[in-house]
Amino acid sequence: MQLKIYNSLTAEKEIFKPILDGNVGMYVCGPTVYSNVHLGNVRTFLSFDFIYRSLTHLGYKVRYVRNITDAGHLTDDGDVNNDRFVKQTRLEKLEPMEIVQKYTVDFHKVLDMFNLLPPNIEPTATGHIVEQIELTQKLIETGFAYESNGSVYFDVLEYNARGLNYGELSKRNIEELFANTRDLDGQGEKKNPQDFALWKKASPAHIMRWNSPWGEGFPGWHLECTAMSTKYLGETFDIHGGGMDLKFPHHECEIAQGKACNGTSPVNYWMHANMLTMNSQRMSKSTGNYILPMQLVSGENDFFEKSFHPTIVRFCFLQAHYRSVLDISNDAMLASEKGFTRLMEALKILNSITPNDEKQSGFSLEDWKTKCYDALTDDFNSPVLIAHLFEAVKFIFALKDEKETISAKDLEDLKSTLNAFVFDVLGLQNIEENNNEKLDQTLQVLIELRNQARKSKNFDLSDQIRDKLLAEGIELKDGREGTTYVLN
Ligand code: AMP
Ligand code: ZN
Repeated sequence: MQLKIYNSLTAEKEIFKPILDGNVGMYVCGPTVYSNVHLGNVRTFLSFDFIYRSLTHLGYKVRYVRNITDAGHLTDDGDVNNDRFVKQTRLEKLEPMEIVQKYTVDFHKVLDMFNLLPPNIEPTATGHIVEQIELTQKLIETGFAYESNGSVYFDVLEYNARGLNYGELSKRNIEELFANTRDLDGQGEKKNPQDFALWKKASPAHIMRWNSPWGEGFPGWHLECTAMSTKYLGETFDIHGGGMDLKFPHHECEIAQGKACNGTSPVNYWMHANMLTMNSQRMSKSTGNYILPMQLVSGENDFFEKSFHPTIVRFCFLQAHYRSVLDISNDAMLASEKGFTRLMEALKILNSITPNDEKQSGFSLEDWKTKCYDALTDDFNSPVLIAHLFEAVKFIFALKDEKETISAKDLEDLKSTLNAFVFDVLGLQNIEENNNEKLDQTLQVLIELRNQARKSKNFDLSDQIRDKLLAEGIELKDGREGTTYVLN
């Protein structure tokens, strides 16, 4: 089985060859934790969660690093007074690290709700200031960077003069870049408008600041990812991921920093996830065209006619390939809900099928499995994989109607393969099972309260609990082992 990955750097699907046989080092740019993540952000992280799950399922031992940007990510105009953290601290009247903590907790809660697995390492920019200062020093020593008025900039022209190619990932031509840039970032400090900040001098208003050889300041956004990926995955590692919009300048700058520092390309396979749109427009906080994950799940929003369980949202996202734009709409969500319900129904039916070893089945399990793995290894093609899963669903319904048969061995194989794809690889959750668990927990609480009422001779209350539950079709039975319940 050969895994093919679309590499944004070469713009081609390539056969994946890890640096260390059987192992994968993967770095994904994490969130800037100055506000709540919107559903668009979730799509990107979910795409890489699916890729992480797929790699693991295919037998790779993955070291998955996803950072937290808790310093240094400026707004596009580069004005330090517009620093996202500084702005938010003023708005919410909180300390910068309170903002960081608040939105990091929210980020984890949201990803947990959509059943994303945690990365193996989740480093923060503020926890790696020393490494970023060291990298900046190295770049100055080797002539790739220069200090100017307490800030340090990467010298893009020098980089190109040494035969390297700034623009190789975004396929931009340096002359074109120079022609199209206004110098808002450096306020005249930079040699060239395309030079980017490795270290920024802190203005008096800037609260998050650290000592450095160039005075008090804070690191540039691009540098943190080079510092953390090098530290945890090495100078060259296998996969680097992020949203499409990070290709330029963020990832372009990472390549330049890596090559200038270590003389080697930092990443073998660049992967970029496409955007989530709503009403055909990119989801983004700045334009107001966005929805928060909780608003979709609770139904408290103006875009969708009802609430949707997080696993339905996950299923909807995975019905599009990670490199395609996905437009989220009420109809798309309703269709996903319908599909998901049928998939779960099929899984349930599978448990009650009686195998038949006498008759020949018209469904080739081996061919079906091959098709599923072909889709998964073809640049993680989740929509095609899901389409194949629905061929199995159709077959299961035919089994139920006794229009098809399956041998005992194939039945076990189908069950385990389908379960692995649905729950381990796609990361879906069985809503009904979860609900049953919650119902059981709730009933145990009511039984406990009834016992307490009886102990304190409050028979009025204990009878009320029993009778009201009975009216809802839940019968309590008192026995020697305690109280149990029957759902009628
Ligand atoms: P940020 O916190 O702004 O750095 O964004 C976190 C991640 O979300 C980045 O990888 C972005 O590329 C990604 N992202 C932002 N907007 C969208 C969107 N509308 N659809 C998908 N991913 C997005
Ligand atoms: Zn990054």
